[in-house]
Amino acid sequence: MNKEQILAFGDLISRADRILIISHIRPDGDAVGSLIGLGLILEELGKDVNLVLEDGVPKVFHHLTGFDHVIREVSGVYDLIIVVDSSDIDRIGSVLDEYGEPDVNIDHHPTNTQFAKLNLVRDDAVATAEIIFDLARTLSLPITLPAAEALLTGLLTDSLGFRTSNSSPRTLRIAAELQEMGANLQYLYQKAMLEKSIEAVRYWGLGLSRIQKEDRLVWTSLSLEDRKTADYPGRDDADLINVLSRIRDTDICLVFVEQTDGTVKISWRSQPGFDVSAIAAQFGGGGHKPAAGAEIQGDLERVQEEVLEATRKSLSGVG
Ligand code: 5GP
Ligand code: MN
Repeated sequence: MNKEQILAFGDLISRADRILIISHIRPDGDAVGSLIGLGLILEELGKDVNLVLEDGVPKVFHHLTGFDHVIREVSGVYDLIIVVDSSDIDRIGSVLDEYGEPDVNIDHHPTNTQFAKLNLVRDDAVATAEIIFDLARTLSLPITLPAAEALLTGLLTDSLGFRTSNSSPRTLRIAAELQEMGANLQYLYQKAMLEKSIEAVRYWGLGLSRIQKEDRLVWTSLSLEDRKTADYPGRDDADLINVLSRIRDTDICLVFVEQTDGTVKISWRSQPGFDVSAIAAQFGGGGHKPAAGAEIQGDLERVQEEVLEATRKSLSGVG
């Protein structure tokens, strides 16, 4: 992402009135924070902004101002279409199917496929929210308090509370600036990172009850039956993967989540020195070296076997 591209983005914004912003399915804190953060910045400029998430905003982010402006379907005509935090166009679901190539792609995934006319991609950023913060600074766009809260949420969640190895002094400086704008770090941390519904924790319990460990590999699965039993409303893993990644003497952990459409969602997490995004890419997914995901057609048992085999191979290759 160079200065010319940033100026081109500024130009596109200043010429647009109706702006559509979209992020990915099974949205995480960076998807929601980047979407709402950028949306509020552009609204402050007087733009008519529509925010879209095919899966809606998960409850854990309902404390963010503007969450209730997010809709689940696209209609109408737009001057500018921006996709945030999505490494490829399939990640946003089918909401843009009738709209052709998006205008702008703002993202931090190394596996980004550069799918838009203007690609603002920087894989050294901890979160897409960090790139949006930088864009706002460079272009002198107004970051209001609610926008700062949304961006800090993106930064916090993608860095797992500043625990990922790419969390740098720069990350903390940006967080400090957002704090100085009035964003309450402790409150946002509590809301987005710690609090869980009782249903989510029951869902964890079902997954944890059949956890498996083989050498330095740990995994478990969540079936549709589990989702029903726990009465868990989401189609994600309720962050169970981050519980597994705390298990000592483990290099790679995985969670398999059975989906209603006959696919299985896989999440990988790894210790430094391993690259799970390469394994995810073998299955049409992507992500970062320490955290990656994919969605594969097939039943839970078979997908699990296939993916575990590929993961074992990758582990033994690293030695
Ligand atoms: P998670 O396991 O939390 O869903 O995702 C971990 C990382 O992998 C995130 O950076 C996320 O964007 C990426 N990721 C997750 N699922 C997919 C997928 O199906 N396709 C791609 N390209 N990336 C994914
Ligand atoms: Mn992200």
